[in-house]
Amino acid sequence: MLTDTHCHLFYSDLKKDIEGVIKRANELGVTRFICVGTNLDDSAECFDLAKRFDSVFGTAGIHPHDAKDAPENYIEKLSELLSKAKMAAVGEIGLDYFRNISEPEIQRTVFREQLELSASLNMPIVFHNREADEDTVRMLEKHGPGKGIAHCFSSTIETAERFMELGYHISFSGNLTFKNSHLPEVAAQIPLDRILVETDSPYMSPEPYRGKPNEPGRTRYVAEKLADIHAVSLETIAEITSANAATLFGY
Ligand SMILES: [Zn+2]
Ligand SMILES: [Zn+2]
Repeated sequence: MLTDTHCHLFYSDLKKDIEGVIKRANELGVTRFICVGTNLDDSAECFDLAKRFDSVFGTAGIHPHDAKDAPENYIEKLSELLSKAKMAAVGEIGLDYFRNISEPEIQRTVFREQLELSASLNMPIVFHNREADEDTVRMLEKHGPGKGIAHCFSSTIETAERFMELGYHISFSGNLTFKNSHLPEVAAQIPLDRILVETDSPYMSPEPYRGKPNEPGRTRYVAEKLADIHAVSLETIAEITSANAATLFGY
């Protein structure tokens, strides 16, 4: 049994055939899904999907790209959603200085406010970090809840070690399978009790589907790669990463 700890099931490609998406995932051994919100509307959709499917859990949060559009009362709205059953984490939050779709300063304010929210609710976070290692570490240190996931990890081992020292888990996505990636070397140095797997569907399709729309079932290919890297069986990876997710999200 594998857990996809990060998918966006509310995007139309996935939503229009949600039953098929879940069925195909189950056939590949992927049986749990964390549907991750990026703004208030799609976080509410995560909650709807969690109500509809036993195997789906939701998160609520404002993505750094969406930070500029967060309404004034967004913290109140997020806490309301997060008080519901099967809402498991604050996310997707973080910093993205690669695309800078929201101004960096707005990104930092919205990240900080949501870190404070997660700490006050004692909930884990799911965070996104692109070209923002230093600020992410600094803000987690100062404001973070000390539990959660560095999602779609793509930084260096030094950054992974700093995240782990602060209590966070490291989640690998399809880019672990890309040719010439530095990530296998990073993943080899992360202890299995700190590792998670995800797809970030509909993005980040692993090999051999690179560049195509992604589905949660492909968590399996990320897990297979990780099994190779750590020289253990796929079953071992599945068991350990699913147990890590269950502990972290509290289900
Ligand atoms: Zn992300
Ligand atoms: Zn995402």
